[in-house]
Amino acid sequence: MDILLKQVRLNDGEELKDVGIKGGKIVAIEKEISEQAKQVIEAQGRVLVPGFVESHIHLDKALIANRKPNKSGTLQEAIKVTADLKPTFSKEDIYERAKQALEMIIPRGVTAIRTHSEFDPAQGFTGFETILKLKEEYKHLVDIQVVAFPQEGIFKAPGTDKMMYEAMEMGADVVGGIPYNDAPANEHIDLIFEIAKKYNKPIDLHQDFSDEADNISIEYLCRKTIEEGYQGRVAVGHLTALHALPKEKLDPIIQLIVEAQISVMALPATDLHLGARNDTYNVRRAVTPIRKLRDAGVNMCIATNNIRNAFTPYGNGDILQTAMLAIPVAHLGGADDLHTVLPMITDNPAKAIGLKNYGIKVGNNADVVLLDTLIKENAIIDIPERLYVIKNGKVTVENHKETVVYR
Ligand SMILES: [Zn+2]
Repeated sequence: MDILLKQVRLNDGEELKDVGIKGGKIVAIEKEISEQAKQVIEAQGRVLVPGFVESHIHLDKALIANRKPNKSGTLQEAIKVTADLKPTFSKEDIYERAKQALEMIIPRGVTAIRTHSEFDPAQGFTGFETILKLKEEYKHLVDIQVVAFPQEGIFKAPGTDKMMYEAMEMGADVVGGIPYNDAPANEHIDLIFEIAKKYNKPIDLHQDFSDEADNISIEYLCRKTIEEGYQGRVAVGHLTALHALPKEKLDPIIQLIVEAQISVMALPATDLHLGARNDTYNVRRAVTPIRKLRDAGVNMCIATNNIRNAFTPYGNGDILQTAMLAIPVAHLGGADDLHTVLPMITDNPAKAIGLKNYGIKVGNNADVVLLDTLIKENAIIDIPERLYVIKNGKVTVENHKETVVYR
């Protein structure tokens, strides 16, 4: 064996297990494994979880908050500020910042990332090519899926439709889109499906990112997904407009999302910052209704979206912090809720982005994280140290912090 993890906690209330890893795979999970291993890690009851999955992030526009601030804090100014900065982005600049973001994310236990990488006729493929290069450079540390993302819209930025096809030819893994920032939204969605079907790729849209629900296209997207037989291959980020709907209007939409098997990525760090900026009292939470979606059976995920830019001026790349943020925001701290949050950054996003052989089972990929906590239910609220990150059966990260209290 390559690695033997002794006495890990896989589930609360069960006995501790030994986990054996060989050739990049989990080869044994038993009460006691006596076989020799090149490396033995004594876990002493600490929690072992599958590698975290960061299912929605923009590496290409990370770490630019200090260049031009978004003073109003609105989505409109965030888009404007970023558009003003874009012409200053060189390949080297994007490379350095995206790399820095990866170096923040990976030590915190993320072993798979889906990143939206944008392009438009004015900037060309500068950022997109850079992210493809990083995907290759980092493949031993993290699996990166690249979404072809038309941030400025497709019809609003003529020439983008052609670039969408080019991006797929260049190696994009997923077809992205942004119906809320384009018109007509339905035609935007139709075109995304046309491209996705041509290349047989999944779809991931920035969907209905708004405080109000007057102009949503999620219902159309659900119907289109079912009509095209694309159930289980479509994901959406934000979906904040749903929080503005009363129960009688929201319930049928959630049922449609369930039927279309669309995964939803809640992005609380961004949505709380930008949303409800005009509310002067009883300020809304402006995050998609995570609990209601979860309870109806929607595949719910939590993701980071941005690190330190005009959309989200904070963040350190730690997905556990984003999950922690979602707990009070979505009332997920109760006894029946807390254990449902960890899957939102592990199993659920793995399913949403179509990862194969994911999870702690014999035969699956050895992508795991040993947390410095003894109780699985506390895996998020402790924000524990990620003691070991194992990717493809190799230790890729070790964190050991020593704290001394002098009395
Ligand atoms: Zn996004």
